Amino acid sequence: MLVNRKAIEKYLNKWQDILRLRDWDIVIKIVKTKWRKSGDIKIDLEDKKAVLLVNHKPKCTNLEELVIHELLHLKVYRMDQMLESFLSIIFGEKEDDPKREFAYTQFMMVLESTVEDLTKGYLSAEGSQKSLSFGRLKEPIDVEIRGNCKFDHNIDKGDRK
Ligand SMILES: [Zn+2]
Repeated sequence: MLVNRKAIEKYLNKWQDILRLRDWDIVIKIVKTKWRKSGDIKIDLEDKKAVLLVNHKPKCTNLEELVIHELLHLKVYRMDQMLESFLSIIFGEKEDDPKREFAYTQFMMVLESTVEDLTKGYLSAEGSQKSLSFGRLKEPIDVEIRGNCKFDHNIDKGDRK
């Protein structure tokens, strides 16, 4: 799937209102180089400016879901930063410290799953009929299926009519 800038602009405009982010200046940047992520948002809290980065070939197949997800990161960014500073005070700044790494991983997992839960909730409350993106699961599924290729192949033969 190739990204459509107009569609992103439309979703950004719509969700900036719903999420009460109108006081922010947000610009869209389509990333055309190879990039592991579907999207990201870079935030300047003091200036209230943000850049919404969107992969030109995202794994995420639902662009509205992607836009809401990144805007929710913006919405909770102050709290996110506060908790990160808090973790640094407790566990220090050394990234290879296992205690810090554990706490940080747990924090990121809670943050991501909360943001994604809220995204799903907003999408369904808003009545979106479009299916959620399962793009992030495509790769592990492909690996799983390829890994069992021999087994599947045998079943296939047996079932063939
Ligand atoms: Zn996220």
